[in-house]
Amino acid sequence: MNDKGLSEKEIFSYLESAKSEDTDYYRVLSSMCTHPHKIAVEAHRLFIEANLGDLGLFAGAHRLEKEAIRMLGELLHASSVEILSEESFGNSVCGYLTTGGTESNIQAVRGMKNLVITGKKKLEEIPNIIIPESAHFSFDKVADMMGIEVRRAPLDSEFKVDTASVESLINKNTIGLVGIAGNTEFGQVDPIEELSRLALENKLFLHVDAAFGGFVIPFLEKPYPFDFEIPGVTSIAIDPHKMGLSTIPSGALLFRSPSFLDSLKVNTPYLTTKSQFTLTGTRSGAAAAATCAVMKYLGREGYVKNVKYCIQLTAKLVEEARKLGFEPLLEPVMNVVALKTPDPDLVREQLLKKFGWNVSITRTPRSLRLVLMPHNTAQDIEEFLQDLKKVTSEL
Ligand code: PLP
Repeated sequence: MNDKGLSEKEIFSYLESAKSEDTDYYRVLSSMCTHPHKIAVEAHRLFIEANLGDLGLFAGAHRLEKEAIRMLGELLHASSVEILSEESFGNSVCGYLTTGGTESNIQAVRGMKNLVITGKKKLEEIPNIIIPESAHFSFDKVADMMGIEVRRAPLDSEFKVDTASVESLINKNTIGLVGIAGNTEFGQVDPIEELSRLALENKLFLHVDAAFGGFVIPFLEKPYPFDFEIPGVTSIAIDPHKMGLSTIPSGALLFRSPSFLDSLKVNTPYLTTKSQFTLTGTRSGAAAAATCAVMKYLGREGYVKNVKYCIQLTAKLVEEARKLGFEPLLEPVMNVVALKTPDPDLVREQLLKKFGWNVSITRTPRSLRLVLMPHNTAQDIEEFLQDLKKVTSEL
């Protein structure tokens, strides 16, 4: 650290130089995050010091968190399944705002494990969960941290988890299943209703990772079933800081029953509340304010418009890519496209090096992975496809 503080001018020139190295989402086709909505940014600023780690000191920010959870519960059909109230939350929906999909997934599995340990189920060996092969790498962290075996079920020809394989992986030590509603690489939605049937038949928990899809699927012209309307779904991860247009860090974890939150509680002797069920201690009240504000500002109509825009970009990309001879691996389900090209790794490298495009790659099979977000435009797509054509014709 420098001995003496720098001037404001020096600091800002230092910051601006760092900022100029950021993409600012220009030519970014690989990100599931985007510019936060201006209302979210303003709300975030207003609550910049609020710490949801000590709820009693920040009752206002906590009220906004509860309201965000209530709205998310409504979006995910929680109201239709009678979600019981959680005392410390004092309203009818059970959950909290996390730092993102990773924390939500970790906490969902921690909840499963704790409930099994306190419950009647006898495990003979280490517990296991079954996740799709396409699951986000946050489940590698789950495996590493939680002393749980993570079993991976293969995908079918449409890149959905193969439910027969899931069934064959269930054994006496299985505690839960995971389905993905909008997987990271393909944007595909797993057959959540079938997973629910398996979960109910085998008395297992079912966590749905809708970190990306949660703010997409409900706003599609034809939504896919994935949420609490399906009886076996016990928890859902949904990220306002992705397609919800909130600020980072804004994730959310919702549970069907408050027993999950209870199972996560630790005592907090020197805070204004007696216990805490979150993973992190200090939490951003600013992100809660941002999420609540942008959801109220946009309403359903605003999110429908946002999703429609991204879906139209997706359709344009696929249509024009086809004219150039590039086929998608699957018809896009949401605003994620897996595009077949020769040597995708080299194409990715050249697109970045020559034209500054940030794209990513699907693992199996390898293809270009493109996410069409609100920061992208129709002109971006035209330029991108011309550059893609150039790069592939030089291979
Ligand atoms: N789950 C899914 C399906 C995701 O796509 C992602 C990130 O892209 C995550 C979880 C992790 O979210 P985060 O990076 O906000 O922790």
